[in-house]
Amino acid sequence: MSNVMEEKGSLSINSENIFPIIKKWLYSDHDIFFRELISNGCDAITKMKKLEIMGEVSLPEDNEWKVTVKVSPEESTITIIDNGIGMTAEEVKQYINQIAFSGAQAFVEKYKDKANEDCIIGHFGLGFYSAFMVAHKVTINTKSYKEDEPSVYWESEEGVDFVMSEGSRTERGTEITLYLNEDSYEFSNEYRAKEVIEKYCYFMPTPIYFENVDAPKKEEEPKAEDGEEKTEEEKKPQPLNNPNPLWTKHPNECTEEEYKQFFRDVFHDYKEPLFWIHLNMDYPFNLKGILYFPKVNMEYENLEGTIKLYSNQVFIADNIKEVIPEFLLLLKGVIDCPDLPLNVSRSALQNDGFVKKISDYITKKVADKLSGMCKVERESYEKYWDDISPFIKYGCLKDDKFCEKMKEYMLFKNLEGKYLTLEDYIKAAKEAAGEDSTETPAVEVENADGSLAGGGDDEDSGEKKQIVYYVTDERQQSQYINMFKEAGLDAVLLTHNIDQPYISKLEYENKEIRFQRIDADLTEAFKEDVAESEEDWKKLTETVTEMVKKTLGKEKLTVKVEKLKNEKVASMITLSEDSRRMQDMMKMYNMYGTDPSMFGGDGETLVLNGNHPLVKYVFEHKKSKNASVICEQLYDLAMLSHKPLAPEEMTKFIERSNEIMLLLTK
Ligand code: ADP
Ligand code: MG
Repeated sequence: MSNVMEEKGSLSINSENIFPIIKKWLYSDHDIFFRELISNGCDAITKMKKLEIMGEVSLPEDNEWKVTVKVSPEESTITIIDNGIGMTAEEVKQYINQIAFSGAQAFVEKYKDKANEDCIIGHFGLGFYSAFMVAHKVTINTKSYKEDEPSVYWESEEGVDFVMSEGSRTERGTEITLYLNEDSYEFSNEYRAKEVIEKYCYFMPTPIYFENVDAPKKEEEPKAEDGEEKTEEEKKPQPLNNPNPLWTKHPNECTEEEYKQFFRDVFHDYKEPLFWIHLNMDYPFNLKGILYFPKVNMEYENLEGTIKLYSNQVFIADNIKEVIPEFLLLLKGVIDCPDLPLNVSRSALQNDGFVKKISDYITKKVADKLSGMCKVERESYEKYWDDISPFIKYGCLKDDKFCEKMKEYMLFKNLEGKYLTLEDYIKAAKEAAGEDSTETPAVEVENADGSLAGGGDDEDSGEKKQIVYYVTDERQQSQYINMFKEAGLDAVLLTHNIDQPYISKLEYENKEIRFQRIDADLTEAFKEDVAESEEDWKKLTETVTEMVKKTLGKEKLTVKVEKLKNEKVASMITLSEDSRRMQDMMKMYNMYGTDPSMFGGDGETLVLNGNHPLVKYVFEHKKSKNASVICEQLYDLAMLSHKPLAPEEMTKFIERSNEIMLLLTK
């Protein structure tokens, strides 16, 4: 049995220079000392478990692995106790006095020039010495598992000098006490301490118990309301953490309820996730995790998820976009990857080939899950589609590989609520066109002047394109939807903000298709044929057009008189696809005040149905006051279903409507 010689020393290298830098660096998360010290305790226990497995040691029956955190708000101290492997005097010298310090020094050497960038992922490598971020004095009381070795006491003020002597600990393990600095007293507060421990240590592999030594000792537990004594189990203190997170189990052994429960526990989200992917990989790197597709409520919530990153069940950080593909950050989930190089800067992570492989693997797994579901469980896939499609489209915009993998599994909901692939839609459109020879959905598309918004290249000009009609707002575009249905035409619903950039991408990649909103123009299918020679018709269109422009005082307004098959429609506004996309873009860039004609006209056309009695009336009574009132009313009504009227326009419209109703009373 060797004695611990009293020893004093200076902790080598200029530690006075180290701590100011470390402190500055870690300024924003001083609280990680909890993670470092508790994970050291867990590591010490893991080492002990290994020795047991190897048959090097035998442990008593009642041995129970645990880390205990005790706080004393009155003394402003924190003590962290483990029953792990412990340290001999030699080990304290080697691992604490030398290694840990040189680790800290190497850290500073490496990053001293970048001390302002907060870029060290987990601040790993600082380990034990992170205690000095919050404490002016730290003591260690440790006893090695080697029975001959005496207990060791170590103490250091400010991490500059240390003293070592024989310790008082009689049981195997290590006890570390922090005497907190005044500005860190908060960490000895029970609630603050628990909060931090739960944040970083929630899934650490050893049970963590908590004790506030200043809290009044609990009297005999009051009897439960129903008069029954609490059972032994209920009285036993519960650990703060869950040492066996679900991702560590084999996917075959996890039940649906366990996945849902885990989701609630981790994200405190009580809406059920739609489905999930359990990642479980050992080769060529170690990666485990569970990714959940949450149910999104598009109208009220942002698409924003959380991916928690762990290394061997130790929490590193949320949403590290260097490791996790950006679009996956819309999901909720946990990823544990012990192989990640966490002691490097974030910018280094970004350029790390290994990290890229991890990120590619995750992307591939997600694409595999989705395509597999589309192939094998098409019904569920369709059921989830509305919820998951914004996410998938975002992924397609962000990641070409993902886009390529998902290409055949992108669905489009049509007017009947059926889910089609783009191919299905085009095939049906072509068939419909074949049956009805007057209509062909492929039309000549010219590049409008405002090709800014069109997305098409100049070379495409005049090419035949397959038109894909779409609806962005079922209520607003209901008039058109009805006309489409009557004409036996179909359209797809694209109602999310992500859809505009997504269809631009599709058009860019598939030069033969062109998306056109349902109200962008009147397709030939809605119109009756008009013989060129019809003199009467020509006269009607010219007269009515003139009349409308004059009455409304809008000389520049584009007016078209058509013979519409649907006799209920008297007037409507169409807005060309290019103009609308450009207007949307201007809105996006806050160019509200800009005059759209700067970019080649506002693209709005007033369409009047020459078959409608009101329009016929205007033609036949062009000089009358009634004809003017009808023109104004037809314009406002068409406008109303196109976009909101300006306040003064609305006032006029209401007055005029009332006047018209008054006529009914006469
Ligand atoms: P790291 O954990 O990355 O090795 P640390 O600075 O956290 O770096 O710890 C340095 C070393 O000190 C550890 O590797 C271990 O050998 C020893 N050590 C620290 N805490 C304990 C503990 N609670 N029990 C046993 N050994 C410990
Ligand atoms: Mg450590």
